[in-house]
Amino acid sequence: MMISVDEAWGLICSAAQPLSSERRSLDSALGSVLAEDVIAPVDLPPFDNSAMDGYALKAAETQGAHAQRPVTVAVVGEVAAGSWQDAPVQPGTAVKIMTGAAVPPGADAVLMLEAGRLRQGAVEIREPVAPGTHIRRRGEDVRRGDVLLEMGTPLNVQRIGLLAGSGIAEVRVHRQVRVSLLATGSELVTDGRPLKPGQIYDSNRIVLRTLIEQAGGACDDLGIVPDDPTMIRAQIQSGLRSDLFLISGGVSVGAHDHVKQVLQALGMETLFWRVNMKPGKPLLCGRLGEHWVFGLPGNPISCVVGFLVFIEPLIRRLKGEQDAQPRSTRALLKKDVSKKDERRHFMTAHIAPGTDGRLEATPTEKQGSAMMQALAQANAFVIVPEDRTSLEAGEPVDVLRFHD
Ligand code: AMP
Ligand code: MG
Repeated sequence: MMISVDEAWGLICSAAQPLSSERRSLDSALGSVLAEDVIAPVDLPPFDNSAMDGYALKAAETQGAHAQRPVTVAVVGEVAAGSWQDAPVQPGTAVKIMTGAAVPPGADAVLMLEAGRLRQGAVEIREPVAPGTHIRRRGEDVRRGDVLLEMGTPLNVQRIGLLAGSGIAEVRVHRQVRVSLLATGSELVTDGRPLKPGQIYDSNRIVLRTLIEQAGGACDDLGIVPDDPTMIRAQIQSGLRSDLFLISGGVSVGAHDHVKQVLQALGMETLFWRVNMKPGKPLLCGRLGEHWVFGLPGNPISCVVGFLVFIEPLIRRLKGEQDAQPRSTRALLKKDVSKKDERRHFMTAHIAPGTDGRLEATPTEKQGSAMMQALAQANAFVIVPEDRTSLEAGEPVDVLRFHD
């Protein structure tokens, strides 16, 4: 019996441990995952400040204000963002204040600039201002000492903003996942050179390299080797400084599929080989000491599916996203599909919101593990479960997505 997709992913999950951590400057931390809780070093905002340009005053003095009976207070100074006033605001006076400026002592509200009429150094107030109006309180956003972000949180641009706003310049994150990439195949040609009979252009390498980078890994591209066990072995040994080794092609049962034997000779412990899925069945996963190794089938669509189902979420787990799962979502199927076997199928499909805004998935006209134009039309894969022989138009289905 071949291993199921879920069992295979389960084996990966039980062996996947986050990589070690390092301190990184915030400038280069985007996409990394926190290896420790970050504690807020300051209150945010650090002091009571004005949310508006206006007049800082004593709210109580405005309580009787009315359009017919305005209250008038003398404007006796000005406080701008970045400056500080120690002197308390005196009864019967107001201080002009700019957005972000510290509210001077004695004032407990801000009247919007547009709401007061300035006349001969005094401002006329035509309606009461409630205490606290337009004041952003010290610590109302974040309290010093609180957990700002928890360990395991991926750093996106919003969180980088929060850290920078808290004065944090360095964070402890899991280190980047280093991935070596090797394409095998005596038929492979690169860079658009003219094809000789029997040759094809290599596309897996650039695709995998890009997918690795999108997943947050650093790719070490070892190029192409022919189907020659000695050369494959030499390249694998040279790439064993990385955390993860991806090899495309040569992992099936053909006479020139040497990858598995070479890896076994090097001491690989096999986690699984051949998965009950289509495309992507001849997929090899193992450990060589500390290194993860994957042999992906050479067919371009098989290769992408294998990556998105197993390797993309594994990279995210290694870089600290402990609960990472394959990226999937639900969509309404737009046309009937069927299959004859009990494998889990991944069909190239295009997903987009329908007229009611719900996500819809349309499988591409052509399906096949080497249909590159269908792949180019697709932004997802419709998943047909093992125990279903058909799915009907209108059904909600699971789809596997590319990185956003
Ligand atoms: P293999 O997994 O080596 O049996 O290859 C399966 C199919 O994928 C064959 O038709 C290969 O020519 C093709 N193939 C292998 N490697 C690549 C590659 N890097 N780019 C595009 N197609 C490939
Ligand atoms: Mg081959």
